[in-house]
Amino acid sequence: MSILGTCGARQLTRNFGRPECPKCGSTLLVAEKSEFNLKGGIRHAWSCDECGHQFATAISLRPFVPGQI
Ligand SMILES: [Zn+2]
Repeated sequence: MSILGTCGARQLTRNFGRPECPKCGSTLLVAEKSEFNLKGGIRHAWSCDECGHQFATAISLRPFVPGQI
């Protein structure tokens, strides 16, 4: 029995924060391009392998504060 057979590929990839294409719902695995700026922001550019739709996601990192998790 494989792990994929037990849990399903979609469920496994969702746990790693991979986005789904807003057009067709396919899960994307690797960003086409990633940019980091000095304010702590990270922008990922994605291109869907299934339908070719291109979109971007952005996250902001929290500043490090000693003693806080
Ligand atoms: Zn798509």
